[in-house]
Amino acid sequence: MANLPDEKGHFDQYGGLFVAETLMHAIDQLNKAYEKYRNAPDFIAEFQYELKHFVGRPSPIYHAKRWSQELGGAQIWLKREDLNHTGAHKINNCIGQMLLAKRMGKTRIIAETGAGMHGVATATVAARYGLECVVYMGAEDVRRQAANVHRMKLLGATVVPVVSGSKTLKDALNDAMRDWVANVDNTFYIIGTVAGPHPYPMMVRDFQQVIGQECIEQMQEYVGRQPDYVVACVGGGSNAMGIFYPYIPYTDVALRGVEAGGDGIETGRHSASINAGQVGVLHGNRTYIMQNEDGQIQETHSISAGLDYPGVGPEHAWLNDTGRAQYKVINDDEALEAFQHCCRLEGIIPALESSHALAYAAKLAPTLDKDKIILVNLSGRGDKDMHTVAQYLNMEL
Ligand SMILES: *Cc1c(COP(=O)(O)O)cnc(C)c1O
Repeated sequence: MANLPDEKGHFDQYGGLFVAETLMHAIDQLNKAYEKYRNAPDFIAEFQYELKHFVGRPSPIYHAKRWSQELGGAQIWLKREDLNHTGAHKINNCIGQMLLAKRMGKTRIIAETGAGMHGVATATVAARYGLECVVYMGAEDVRRQAANVHRMKLLGATVVPVVSGSKTLKDALNDAMRDWVANVDNTFYIIGTVAGPHPYPMMVRDFQQVIGQECIEQMQEYVGRQPDYVVACVGGGSNAMGIFYPYIPYTDVALRGVEAGGDGIETGRHSASINAGQVGVLHGNRTYIMQNEDGQIQETHSISAGLDYPGVGPEHAWLNDTGRAQYKVINDDEALEAFQHCCRLEGIIPALESSHALAYAAKLAPTLDKDKIILVNLSGRGDKDMHTVAQYLNMEL
């Protein structure tokens, strides 16, 4: 397969660079810096050192034996990104972008966040490296995600509630872009998923590909072969791109992304951009997005706040169209059921986002022979989801 994106950031018709003229200077600067450092030995060495000593990598792979046995088909293996510092894969990318920001001489970091997980990861690395950190968050999300707002503040970040529009992630995206335009000289914008204008989708993928690279080594070492399927949940798509990308040349390995079906595609309350969206432009790139007839971005819904993004990374749009990866849908109630099975059968409380990938694997496993292997990216831990789960299950907290 071609080595994408091209120099303009295109994955065929997807991706690219759709930003205001006023941002071109910042984007140019970022492109040049990333080209300069992405293959520089000292940059790579520092990144790897941080992943090992600050994040705790490599994260293990783990055979979910009891669950596999109960399902009676293929063997399910988990890639344990939940064991990373801060509890998910997002920290890998934040460290990479922070090391770049430092080399570019930036002193201020901005980010936008929906559920707050990317905000917490960004505030964490800003504290680690001593940079000022401002996080934009929809006022409605600030209210819903009070614990993460508190975490960001403890880590020394300023959280700015955004009161325009629907007061959620898409409004925070706009304000972060505006801040960047106004403060390009000293400010680096850390985007949390494989979206945004070029070079972000490529850069975030590159920083997250450590997940798949480790899996290839670990599967060989502990199982003696590569899996038959690799499964990951898809919000913006960074944990999925991180595990998929190194596997793209392994054509015997099937790649399955799992989108959030929310209350069900037919209800319109979901966030399945590939399965039920259209091609359009969002967040500086062309991809599948959720929009209404007037081209307005639609409100999305999912039990997992981290999958609640109205678009998807352009490389996934391309992988979908070429058929190299397929994208499935899992609804809220199916994810919640998989969440409970993982807790009780494996002693692991998974993130609700990751529970979508688990639910798809649990559907797939019984249709396959016992000697087949499904490797699921367990993108994060579920401690953050206790309130949501309690609410859905009518449990007291
Ligand atoms: C943010 C998040 C996701 C969704 O983001 P991607 O960019 O699609 O990976 C998935 N899982 C967890 C645990 C998250 O925190």
